[in-house]
Amino acid sequence: MVELKTDHEIDAMREAGRVVARALAAVRASARVGSSLLDLDRTARAVLREAGTSSPFLGYRPSFAPVPFPAVVCASVNDAIVHGVPDGYRLRDGDLVSVDCGARLRGWAGDAAVSFTVGTARPADLRLIGTAEAALTAGIEQARPGRRIGDIAHAIGRVVRSAGYGIPDGFGGHGIGRSMHEDPGVPNEGPAGRGMRLRAGMVLAIEPMVIAGGTDDYRTDGDGWTLRTVDGSRAAHAEHTVAITADGPRILTAL
Ligand code: MG
Ligand code: MG
Repeated sequence: MVELKTDHEIDAMREAGRVVARALAAVRASARVGSSLLDLDRTARAVLREAGTSSPFLGYRPSFAPVPFPAVVCASVNDAIVHGVPDGYRLRDGDLVSVDCGARLRGWAGDAAVSFTVGTARPADLRLIGTAEAALTAGIEQARPGRRIGDIAHAIGRVVRSAGYGIPDGFGGHGIGRSMHEDPGVPNEGPAGRGMRLRAGMVLAIEPMVIAGGTDDYRTDGDGWTLRTVDGSRAAHAEHTVAITADGPRILTAL
């Protein structure tokens, strides 16, 4: 069941999304060689708290998870794809980190993710991150009334596959509103022209995940949360919460 949001409700979601954007920008600006993943989480917590928001991540426990999520960000380093649990690991020169963050303000949720490197970047990592971002942009471009979910999926998949990267099987974006995860699912690959028709008032979290090694396989860490590549290659993730409006896509988690 897809809940359509009014313009007023989308404005309210924009306020939640703005806080997510600020939290991610603060994390990115603070992350350096030697920062621990718990430091990154603390930085995001401070932004969320100051803005009067709560975290839809903290305490989140979907059916697959053995324990509630203990942080307000996911921090996924190098071969971790998504859902990395922040711990005492200290970032090293050349690490690639993907940070995913959510916020809830006056009942409305926002969800976004960025990937970046710390210290001396490997060119291959910059290309990987650039592809995740280009795939996100291509997906957002399709988020218009009259298009279909499959048009978003196809646009994302085409960018990622043409770069030679893998796409983790079975993970993708989602509707978002009062809950962080709502219908419909938004796959990161698939045939164009298929799936639910998009309408003004739908709000989607679009989130390509890319695997450098080109395989689609992943494994779950012993923590029950962190998804890793099976080939040890690096992964990147990019996400925005996007409203479909008569005027085109409106990115709610931009700064
Ligand atoms: Mg997210
Ligand atoms: Mg999401």
